[in-house]
Amino acid sequence: MDRQLKCPACGRDMKEVLIKDRNIKIDICFDGCGGIFFDNRELKQFTDTSKDIKELVDLLKDRKFNEVDESKTRQCPVCGLKMVKNFASPKKAVSIDQCYTCGGVFLDNKELSQIRGEYDNTDELRADVEKMIEDNFGEELKKSELEAKEAKKIDTVRELLLYLGKKD
Ligand SMILES: [Zn+2]
Ligand SMILES: [Zn+2]
Repeated sequence: MDRQLKCPACGRDMKEVLIKDRNIKIDICFDGCGGIFFDNRELKQFTDTSKDIKELVDLLKDRKFNEVDESKTRQCPVCGLKMVKNFASPKKAVSIDQCYTCGGVFLDNKELSQIRGEYDNTDELRADVEKMIEDNFGEELKKSELEAKEAKKIDTVRELLLYLGKKD
């Protein structure tokens, strides 16, 4: 599929790359801030956290990226609507931007390293991710009829964080 997304953090052209290990495509801002965009179709593939993340980490390592203001509101590169900052990590306040319209997620380059640096092992990561889910979505999860779309959004975030934080 041909497309050209603009980075929601710095406005540069992003490059679509294939992560062979998972057979998914993600967009990376190689020429600017190093941010990573996962569109919803791709995120649906994040169901198997046993696969490792080495391929993605290798793509980004030893590169220099521009600094960006992480507190700024971003616009979804796919649908142009405002993204919502979500998901502060209890340890170092890592947040990700999520588009509630199309389900895409944008992650700052620094946030990937932070997520990866925060945990010594997968159990610790898993426990923390569950805590984040509880803190962020606890009220929603208590509702007896959680909308399918909402439930999916929460699952997506969980799977993505578990994948990103995984140790090789
Ligand atoms: Zn960028
Ligand atoms: Zn969107």
